[in-house]
Amino acid sequence: MTLPKTLKVGPFEFEVSLEAKMDEDSYGHLEYEKRKLSVLERLGNFDQHSTILHEALHAIDDCYGLELGERGVQCLETTLTQLIKDNPEWARELVSACTGEPLVTIGPIVIQDTLGDTAEGLRDYLKNV
Ligand SMILES: [Zn+2]
Repeated sequence: MTLPKTLKVGPFEFEVSLEAKMDEDSYGHLEYEKRKLSVLERLGNFDQHSTILHEALHAIDDCYGLELGERGVQCLETTLTQLIKDNPEWARELVSACTGEPLVTIGPIVIQDTLGDTAEGLRDYLKNV
């Protein structure tokens, strides 16, 4: 699994780190003033990424003074991850539209077009398999 080293939220960049232990039963922790976002190391891939989303929502809450609170953040984390799970093709298109990096679909495989020649090579290879 690959986690980002940093996460940009609004005007700030947060350092992302894995921690062996957390206070209480937390999966993650945000230190807004220090621009640090921590994730519990022993979590599985989905839970780590979902926790990053959760802590990013806290950062958005703090940055823009939304007053979402824990309940609001939890609700958005759950509904946004479910939205992505329920609509994976749209989610890939959304990422592509936001980043400007077109997607390349090769059969059931969708890869970023930034692979350039590699994507073309894969496409040619799979045509001949
Ligand atoms: Zn929280």
